[in-house]
Parts: sequence; structure tokens; C-alpha cells
Amino acid sequence: MAATAPVSDDPAQLLIQAESVESSNHAKFNELMRQLDAVAMKLSPQQKLHQRYLMARQVAFAGNYKEALPSLTAIADQTMDPTLAFRASATVIDLLVAESRYEEAFAKLGPLLDQLPTMKESDVRIQGFGVATQLYGEAGQYDESIRYADQIIEESTDAKNACMGWFSKADALFESGATQLSTNQLRDGSEACDKAGDTLFSFGFQHELASFSMRQGKFAHAIRLLQAHYPKVRQAGFPPQIAQFEATLATAYWKSGDLASAVKFANSALVTNASRQYSESTASAYRVLYEVAKERGDSKDSLAYLEKYMTAHDGYQSRLSAKALAYQIVKQQMLAKKLQIDGLDKKNKILTLQGELDRKAVETSRLYIALLLLVLASIGLWAYRIKRSQLRFMRLARRDGLTGIFNRQHFVNEAERELRYCRKSARDACLVLIDLDHFKLVNDTHGHAVGDRVLKRAVDACQAYLRSTDVFGRLGGEEFGLLLPECTLNSALPRVEQIRAAIAAASNAGDAPGIPISASFGVAAAVSCGYELRQLMIDADRALYQAKHEGRNRIRLFEAGPHG
Ligand code: GH3
Ligand code: MG
Ligand code: MG
Repeated sequence: MAATAPVSDDPAQLLIQAESVESSNHAKFNELMRQLDAVAMKLSPQQKLHQRYLMARQVAFAGNYKEALPSLTAIADQTMDPTLAFRASATVIDLLVAESRYEEAFAKLGPLLDQLPTMKESDVRIQGFGVATQLYGEAGQYDESIRYADQIIEESTDAKNACMGWFSKADALFESGATQLSTNQLRDGSEACDKAGDTLFSFGFQHELASFSMRQGKFAHAIRLLQAHYPKVRQAGFPPQIAQFEATLATAYWKSGDLASAVKFANSALVTNASRQYSESTASAYRVLYEVAKERGDSKDSLAYLEKYMTAHDGYQSRLSAKALAYQIVKQQMLAKKLQIDGLDKKNKILTLQGELDRKAVETSRLYIALLLLVLASIGLWAYRIKRSQLRFMRLARRDGLTGIFNRQHFVNEAERELRYCRKSARDACLVLIDLDHFKLVNDTHGHAVGDRVLKRAVDACQAYLRSTDVFGRLGGEEFGLLLPECTLNSALPRVEQIRAAIAAASNAGDAPGIPISASFGVAAAVSCGYELRQLMIDADRALYQAKHEGRNRIRLFEAGPHG
């Protein structure tokens, strides 16, 4: 037993000490845990969780896995300390294995190994490697198991951990079918485990050496090795290990012919293993008892032990295959998950691309809409321009270029329309023909340009006395037509007279003063001449001729009858 260190009641110290003796000196560990309990009030919340972790491991060590598991899981979830979380999770995996819950154990191993690179403390990393080497070993993945065992050996800073690595490596090598350790492995492993002193792993390593010896048929050597450590193993008090030593001793004794010792150790193993029916050591112990009974010719016992051996063996084997199966299941699950993630990744990429395409499509359709609007606007503008130029053209087509009043054609159209309307509604209408007097003289005297201005001035003078319903147009040269709808002769004559006076007055106005202007007027009324424009014009022209003849600058009515 390790020398008892001076005891302090500093919680931090107690925690460190308890941690350090946990696997090597269980009695001391228990004592330190009691002391920690006594100073529980002084613990910080983090220390409290650390204490709970150690307590859970203590409970687990006593075999109460079911009680320890939820506690450790809670600690792993609750603690803010990633290292403590890691250690608690590693212990959870150990206990899940002990509980035969392999699938859960493997499922937790992946995330634990993912955390490993962030763990810096050697002890913590080694605990992680330890869980990995053990679990892979149990699942029959010996190469993986050996890889992690080598990692332990490489990173260990003390013999205790190095010995653990060597034990794991030797175990994996043995299970994978190796017949012996190489000289170097034997030397380095033994050296590490000797230095480590009396730990479960040192004993474990010795057991592995004994197993190799037996595989080589060196039973006496195996017995010597096992017997040399057996008392200390009992003292260390870890039942599975004690039973393992006893069962292997039983087998070695049986193989070497010492049947009494074989039976003695086989029975010891069964007692030690009372609560673990399906362990390898139980199966081995029954096998020895069966073989011995058979050799002794005790057929009744022989059959009974054979049955028990078969039961234990099958149970053990099914546990083994359960481990391998769980490993495969979790591996497949991981693979499926990875494929699913890859699938989701692809799906995401497709969705992203789809989104981009959609956005592009929206942009494109926006562009199309904009283009369409532009085209529509252009068409609209174009139509508007066409319409405007059409209207201008139509106006130009209807107007006289010099004076801006209706041209002959439009005057005729409008006048006929008004006449039709008047005829329908039986209203009066009068047609007036106007001809400027001696206009040739104006042109001849003052020039054509002045003549034009005089024409315009005469038109302006007329327009001042027109109603909106009157139709006024230039018929050609210095001759104008004026239709006065809804106008009797009586009401027409005063208005024509006003116009005559206005034209005559225009001589003295504006930009051509002194040029004498006057006009002669011929008037025909629809009521006496009919509503035909052609006839009205002929008749009005006759009256106009009369006005000229009588001296100009006057109005004459067409009167049907002998004057006509
Ligand atoms: P009367 O009193 O008998 O009507 O004599 P008149 O000189 O007015 O008649 P005539 O028919 O002999 O002459 C008309 C003139 O009007 C001839 C032509 O030179 C002129 N004239 C016709 N159209 C225009 C025009 O657009 N501008 C100008 N300046 N003169 C025009
Ligand atoms: Mg004339
Ligand atoms: Mg004239």
C-alpha cells in the first residue's frame, strides 16, 4: 500500500490526492472521500461537482453502476469545466460497457474522441485513450485498440499510465491471436508496470503475460507469474480481476495436471464471480470443473458442469458478439448520418442554386416587365405623336394657310352639315358671300405681301362679329363664305352690316394704314332659296354681283323672281 500522505483539510488538496490514489489505493481513496465529505461546506460549486464525480466513481467501483450512471451523466451535462465533463463522459462509457449497453457506449465514444484534441492535460487525454482502446478491444477492433494503447504509452508521463497502455496493448495483441509479445514489448511493458507498483493495470499486465505463456503451453511459468501476484490482487480487491486470476490459475493447474488446485481455484473464481454469471472467468472456471469431473469419470458432475459451462460460455460469447454488433450498428449509424449530412449538404446546395435561379428569374421577369413597359410607353408616345401630327395635319387640311379660317372644302362640308341640321329642325339659315373690292389694285399698288396682310385684317374684322355656330371660310382669292345658321334675314342683315362696317373701318388700322379696304356682300336665305348649299351660293353670288354693280361696299339680298 502507498505511503499515506499528510492529510490537509484544504478541499482542493483533498480532491487532488483522492484523484491520484483512486486507482492505486482504494482504501486511502475512500478515506479521502470521507474527509472531503467533512469539509463539504467549504467546496466551491466546481469543487462540489468534482467531488460528486469522484463519489460517483466510488459508487461505480463498488459495482453500483446503475446508481453511478445518472449521476455522472448529470455532472457531464452540468459542469462548466470541459475537463471534468470529459472525465465524467469517459466514465459513463466505462459504466455503459459494464452494463452491457454497448450501443450507447459506442455512440458516446465518437463525441468523446472528437473532444480529445482540445484536452491538454495528460491524465485526461489518457483517460480518453483508455476508454477508446478498451471499447475497440471489446468490439474486436484490435488494430484501433492497439493504436490508442500506443497513444497512451507515448503520451504517458508516469509509469502508472504507461503500464495501463501496455496492459491494453498486450490484451489487444492477445485477443487478436498473437502468441507472444516481442522482446522489446515484454521489456518495456514489464518495466513500466514494475515501476507503476501495485495497480490494477500492473496485475492486468501480469495476467496477460501469463495468458501468452499458456498459449505457448508454458503452464508452470503461467502459474508462477499468477501466483506471484495473486495475494496482492486479492488485496487490491477488484472482484473481476481476482476472478480472472483464479480462473486462469484453475485452467493452468488443470492443463499441468494438478486437478485439486484446479478445482480449488475454479471454485474460488465462481465464489468471487457469484454476481457475474456470464463473464469469461466464470465460463473458464466451469470448463475446468467439467474437464476435471470428466477426467475423474464423475459423469453426473461432468454433465452438470458442462451445462453450466455452456450457459456461461454462450452468455459470454453473446456478450462478445453483442459488443461487435453494437460497434457495427453505431458505425453504420454514423455512416448513415454522414451520408444524410452529405445528402442534406447537396440538397442545400441545390436549394441555394434554386434560390439563385429563382432570383435570376425574378430579375429577368422584372427586366421583361420593364422592357414591356418601355415598349408600351414608346408605342403610347408614338401613337400620341402620330395622333397629334394627324390632328395637326387634319387641321392644316381644313384650314386656309394664310388666314387660318376654314378652307373652301371644309367650309363646304361644315356649311352643308349645318344646313341639313337647320332643314331637319325647320330653322332659318342665311348664306353670305363676301368679296373684297378692288383688291387687285391693292396688290398692284402695295405689293402682294401687303395684299396678304390686308386679307388677314379683313378676316380679323369679320371674326369679331361671328358666333360660335357660324361657319366662316375662305373660298379662294379675296372671296369668303359665311353661313349663319338659325338666322332669319331680319336678324342676319344687321350683323352683315356690322361686318361690312368693320372691314371698311380696317383701312385705317394696324400695319397698313391708308389702304382703302371694303367688301361687297351677297346674301341668300334658305327659307326662300332652299337648303342646298350649291343653290344658295349661286343665289348669293348673284346678289354679290349686284352689290358690285351698284358701286361696291354694300350688301345685297338675293330675291327670287324677276331680279334673279
Ligand atoms: P372687284 O372689286 O371687282 O372684285 O375687283 P378686284 O380687283 O377685287 O377683282 P379681281 O377678281 O379682278 O382681282 C382679284 C385679285 O385678288 C387678283 C389677285 O391678284 C388677288 N389675289 C387673289 N388671291 C390673293 C392672295 O392670296 N393674296 C394677294 N395678295 N392677292 C390675291
Ligand atoms: Mg373676286
Ligand atoms: Mg374683288
